[in-house]
Amino acid sequence: MRLSEVFTTIQGEGILTGVPSLFIRTTGCNLRCVWCDTPYTSWQPEGEEWTLERIAARVESEPWIRHAVVTGGEPMLPPGIVELTHLLRRLGRHITIETAGTLYQPVACDLMSISPKLSNSTPLARDGGRWAEMHDRARLQPEVLLRLMAEYDYQLKFVVAAEADLPEIEDLVRLLGAPPERVLLMPEGIHPDVLAARSLWLVEACKRRGYRFCPRLHVLLYGNRRGV
Ligand code: SF4
Repeated sequence: MRLSEVFTTIQGEGILTGVPSLFIRTTGCNLRCVWCDTPYTSWQPEGEEWTLERIAARVESEPWIRHAVVTGGEPMLPPGIVELTHLLRRLGRHITIETAGTLYQPVACDLMSISPKLSNSTPLARDGGRWAEMHDRARLQPEVLLRLMAEYDYQLKFVVAAEADLPEIEDLVRLLGAPPERVLLMPEGIHPDVLAARSLWLVEACKRRGYRFCPRLHVLLYGNRRGV
């Protein structure tokens, strides 16, 4: 399958923040978030073909890394994703899948890390707005979200750019019937200064709702860099 990158780092987001993990990043995405921080998997997808044998050899080259994170792009998009996740299961890895929750495939997964995209993600102006309608139609699929939540252990992560995003999140959480402790709010931004400023009011928002605050540790540690 076509992968954009494979690298070992610590998990930077979610309930497993800080856990050393092998990241396997597929390329290609069915969405076009305006603030996408991996444009090399969405706006300008790039990557190279990896066989399952090559992926297995890479996984086994670091036997002490027990967690694998399959991310994208949208990892639920490529047809080979089911085989990839079953390979990781055979190799005994804990599997996290980072998905926007718009597509379903019967993957092997220990933590379905779902990041539904809010209206702040719609690319209204970019490329003359030609992606906006497609993105807006595809970005929220409640029946897919409910199926993923029913079949897997899950977390719901939201990227928050402004306080105006919060009512939209609350409406969706209510629609999905998700308990607040499953909901994580992350500050939007690719620069540590922006994240720090947004984190302050986001923590207060979490305290008022029972949601969990989630830093973006990889951005704080390394800034906006690939492969870290
Ligand atoms: S879903 Fe993820 S990879 Fe796809 S465009 Fe949005 S942020 Fe980028």
